[in-house]
Amino acid sequence: MHPSIPFLLKLQEMDKKIIEIRKLLAKIPVETEKFQKQLKIEEEKVAQNKKELLQIDLSIKEMEAEIAGLKSKINQYKTQQLSTRKNEEYQALSHQIDNATQKISDLEDKVLEFLEKKERVSKTYKEADIQFHHFALEVKKKTEALSTQKENLEKSLSQLLEERKAYISHLEPNVLQIYQRIAASKPGTAIMPVVDETCGGCHMRMTKQAYLKVKASDALVFCEYCGRILFFSE
Ligand SMILES: [Zn+2]
Repeated sequence: MHPSIPFLLKLQEMDKKIIEIRKLLAKIPVETEKFQKQLKIEEEKVAQNKKELLQIDLSIKEMEAEIAGLKSKINQYKTQQLSTRKNEEYQALSHQIDNATQKISDLEDKVLEFLEKKERVSKTYKEADIQFHHFALEVKKKTEALSTQKENLEKSLSQLLEERKAYISHLEPNVLQIYQRIAASKPGTAIMPVVDETCGGCHMRMTKQAYLKVKASDALVFCEYCGRILFFSE
């Protein structure tokens, strides 16, 4: 076994931890954004309900104004009836009054319908609003937890990077360079054990010659297929 192997293995362990921490760190903004998106959806639900409520109120007001208008028209027709002497005109006004009265009755039914709808939407709105506030609190807590996690991970990462820097200063530069080159394309698995005469990285079967070389030689041996550094472990 090449004398640098145990040191490279330790370096690879450090690198694996660094990779793991970086992965976790990369997940944090994704998580945060996910929560923010969900929160936005809840907020939009509340806004939508509120908008619907306002729309209902507006419709009710419009109908009430229409009713008031029709009522004043009826009074007008009645006054006109008092002053007319023509039977035809009187009948025509009676017809107008009947029409207006029917319209009022229809509108009043509709107002009732809208009031019922308002009650329903109002209930939904209140529930959505409560839910939104609960959720917002939850998101706040989760975001804070993620932020703490991020701080801790960043601290661990910078510690590890410091340790790594100190550690590699003791390694043979050319061996380190070889390791770094392989690790760049095979992070965390640049140096792998031989398992059942196959490469622990790509799992290809080794030639007998290569196998014996790994077992007996103290040179660095590379997998013929994937180029990883191989070592023999009992
Ligand atoms: Zn291989």
